Amino acid sequence: MNQDTQDWHARAAALELRGQAYIDGAYCDAAGGTTFEAISPIDGRRLAQVAACGQADVDRAVEAARRAFEAGAWAGLPPRERKARLQRLAALIGEHAGELALIETLDMGKPIRDALAFDLPETAHCYAWYAEAIDKVYDEIAPTGPSALATITREPLGVVAAVVPWNYPLLMAAWKVAPALAAGNSVILKPAEQSSLSAIRLAGLAQDAGIPPGVFNVVPGLGAEAGQALGLHPDVDCIAFTGSTATGKRFMRYSGESNLKRVWLECGGKSPHIVFEDCPDLDRAALVAALAIFSNQGEVCIAGSRLYVQDGIYETFMEKVAQHAARLRPGDPLDPATAMGAMVDERQMRGVLARIEAGQAEGARLRLGGRQVRAESGGFYIEPTIFDCPAQDSALVREEIFGPVLAAQRFATEDEAIALANDSAYGLGAGLWTANLGRAHRLSRRLKAGLVWVNCYADGDITVPFGGVKQSGFGRDKSLHALDKYCDLKTTWIDITV
Ligand code: NAD
Repeated sequence: MNQDTQDWHARAAALELRGQAYIDGAYCDAAGGTTFEAISPIDGRRLAQVAACGQADVDRAVEAARRAFEAGAWAGLPPRERKARLQRLAALIGEHAGELALIETLDMGKPIRDALAFDLPETAHCYAWYAEAIDKVYDEIAPTGPSALATITREPLGVVAAVVPWNYPLLMAAWKVAPALAAGNSVILKPAEQSSLSAIRLAGLAQDAGIPPGVFNVVPGLGAEAGQALGLHPDVDCIAFTGSTATGKRFMRYSGESNLKRVWLECGGKSPHIVFEDCPDLDRAALVAALAIFSNQGEVCIAGSRLYVQDGIYETFMEKVAQHAARLRPGDPLDPATAMGAMVDERQMRGVLARIEAGQAEGARLRLGGRQVRAESGGFYIEPTIFDCPAQDSALVREEIFGPVLAAQRFATEDEAIALANDSAYGLGAGLWTANLGRAHRLSRRLKAGLVWVNCYADGDITVPFGGVKQSGFGRDKSLHALDKYCDLKTTWIDITV
């Protein structure tokens, strides 16, 4: 073990991990003291007991959030004051980046180098960016006649619940919490049960940053308990959800069965990545195609899990992709040289292995990988896996696997590529590589996806919206557009002749 890796292991051993909820400005146990275990997928060891919040805790969090909202504890502050506190939170996340990155890695298995280079800087930047926006977004005056003044103002909704997944725990939360707070709402964050610890730590930083009690709460817990209680709660005004399509559908039902709360869904994907024979840089495209599916162990909503390669370059290109993939062997996530870590938990690993087995049983050709590795560590690792030309109706092509499994297929013409790419229940991301400008524009329009990348994949920053169409959901995270999800438009018509 090299020195850097030893240092991270030493830091991990010394880390004090808190598993409590954070409600109304204080850390607390769940009512009745119920907990569940946080297990590290790196080696299967127990990290902490986490508060298993249920109805009573959610009720308390919603009450605190509502009280703070109605009292104007946050929305009533001058915008520059809210901005200053959110900026402080961004700075504190930056100062604690090492600790927070370590928590992410221990809790969900991603490589420490990714947590440090991507998750933490992006999370801090997201809070800083929305903080900056607070005193720069103006409301409107309508062009009415001379007898009236009509204002169109954005009003915060009230109590927003953010329910998030485990693949980028702090970042997925930031994409919702930062704009919701910036817009003046009180927020209740429910992290995924597989990765609660960083959200719990974040609550302490929010407190240090001066976010008032009740304005930001964290209720860890199981989906069917804490998540459902938020979804059905009559006093939650909005659910901002990222997670699977199946759970997204539940939140729509919860809303219909309760108070018609707004529901914003960022759900699953099965994103196509298309490479034409006129690709301007085959080597680069092959590396990007490998990273598009194997980064973060394939646990990425926009993973380029369906690769479509034009006939003439199929074999050459797939050989290159396989070479890059073979170099991404899973390793110790606490080794800064490791580029691929552990699957989030044993259940996820078993589920992905079962999909691989089913694909083989169907007769799809396995070009690379397919096995669990590093079992001796006690953790949950799968090597990069590539299937050649499974049938279009195979589960390998149709279902989101959320693991390091690539399904590659051939196509002959532009029309065929588009037909295959759009033949999916999902519509999150789509990539295409071509040197033909006309084709790039033409196909970008025809691809049914919320995000299209040309001659790159998964690029973007906080300035552009992120989200999908079809069963990948609706509503957009990131950019100024995200603020609209957390505000109502109010029209005030004033007769100025009296
Ligand atoms: P999941 O749907 O199982 O869980 C997401 C959240 O919902 C968790 O907090 C969970 O506790 C909660 N939940 C689960 N069951 C619930 C229920 N019955 N009632 C209320 N809440 C419930 O998803 P996951 O496995 O954590 O995450 C993986 C999924 O997230 C994938 O489908 C992935 O594509 C998607 N995802 C989408 C985006 C995006 O921006 N579109 C980003 C990241 C992940």
